Amino acid sequence: MTTSSDRPGSTQARDTAPPPAGGLSFDRLPLAPALLANLQRLGYLEMTPIQAASLPVALSGRDLIAQAKTGSGKTAAFALALLSRLEARRFEVQALVLCPTRELADQVSQEIRRLARAEENVKVLSLCGGSPIRPQVASLEHGAHVVVGTPGRVLDHLERGSLQLAALSTLVLDEADRMLDMGFFDDIAAVAKHCPRERQTLLFSATYPPEIGQLGRQFLRDPQELKLQGGHAASKIRERWYEVREEDRLHTVSRLLDHYRPVSTLAFCNTRQQCRDLVDVLSAQGYEALALHGELEQRERDQVLIQFANRSCSVLVATDVAARGLDIAQLEAVINVDVTAEPEVHVHRIGRTGRADQDGWAFSLASLDEMGRVGNIELLQGRASEWHPVNELKPASEQPLLPPMATLQILGGRKEKIRPGDVLGALTQDAGFAATQIGKINVTEFSTYVAVERGVAREAVSRLSAGKVKGRKVKVRLLSELMRG
Ligand code: ADP
Ligand code: MG
Repeated sequence: MTTSSDRPGSTQARDTAPPPAGGLSFDRLPLAPALLANLQRLGYLEMTPIQAASLPVALSGRDLIAQAKTGSGKTAAFALALLSRLEARRFEVQALVLCPTRELADQVSQEIRRLARAEENVKVLSLCGGSPIRPQVASLEHGAHVVVGTPGRVLDHLERGSLQLAALSTLVLDEADRMLDMGFFDDIAAVAKHCPRERQTLLFSATYPPEIGQLGRQFLRDPQELKLQGGHAASKIRERWYEVREEDRLHTVSRLLDHYRPVSTLAFCNTRQQCRDLVDVLSAQGYEALALHGELEQRERDQVLIQFANRSCSVLVATDVAARGLDIAQLEAVINVDVTAEPEVHVHRIGRTGRADQDGWAFSLASLDEMGRVGNIELLQGRASEWHPVNELKPASEQPLLPPMATLQILGGRKEKIRPGDVLGALTQDAGFAATQIGKINVTEFSTYVAVERGVAREAVSRLSAGKVKGRKVKVRLLSELMRG
């Protein structure tokens, strides 16, 4: 991805919620004086926008779904809420924070400890997979007020009975989008079953994919929703049209890719044949492109979608029918390879880009024959098309456009009781990779798919093959083609 702001993927903060009247001082909040004094000492002089928006709600006891970009201060937002409800003299677990990875859990534990410094002794315990379980059981026997952990390991302790949540008053799902990406939905559900029904649940997330709403409906009670970055604003989609000759159409797609270098592109064709032809042309040129069409078996369709969603495929080529119901959180560009005959379909196609805090591009290729259809689209959209000449499309880099990740397939899935945490553990603890090198983990019935940084993909295959997942040898293969990687 290039850094120029003219290119997709460049994100700009869009804080749509105005700051509340009366300034952003923490003093406005019903917090204990010792907590307030400690905030001053930490240099937290003013609330960040997400803190100003969420703390009054969270402190009132209401359930909350809060979305704000990374680095906006979400940890303190829920930490202050859970600390203010905590009864330090009651030595039982009163708050549980679920995080996607050990690194994040450690950061959250530290932040809670820093914020709790002023209070009576508040004990914060971190429970993550990848560490031996026995010392954790011993620590739990000594008691804790706050537990921060990854869903799989927390569930382990609940099932063993080493962790009890009868006194729990606050459940926090932090980085909920990332936890869903990593396939933790079932574990979160199982953990929530162990929590008292009378509780406050706070959900924090950097993005707001539809699954977050689903998670919220299932585990939260009448939550207040706060989104500090606009959701789906049409203005964030930048549309450009290119006039092409029929014989240049498919080749123009790769020129768009080289010029704009979007990480993920959804390319719409009007027919299945056109989809196949485009994938052939792009693959021959070295791009990672996959077709989604009605003839795929379910397993093949899953594999295509998993690779696209975990960023190991640059271009997904689809007909409107095949793409129905598809929802992809991060999509830098939509390319209309053919102009659709139905203007509503065009609007629907381009509406898939420009979500969350991302800018989105929509490119459309039109031949002279299609100008009538373009006219209908202009009528529906109530604006004229912005035309650009094809010859302004120049490669932005010498490097070929390749996806950042590659997908490994592990033979073994839910049937073998593999959980995302097992795979993450095998890669980070045993094989020595950093958690930041690992992307989405999808566990299906018989297979597990792991996205890893492209540059370490082959190494990851050999180290995983040499090691064990869940105490067992596993068969691992590279699903993505690494043609030029
Ligand atoms: P997020 O979870 O939204 O990605 P964090 O909670 O990790 O963000 O916060 C990012 C950084 O901002 C941390 O270093 C934290 O200490 C700091 N921070 C949070 N709230 C404030 C504040 N009110 N004033 C100053 N710094 C803050
Ligand atoms: Mg965070």
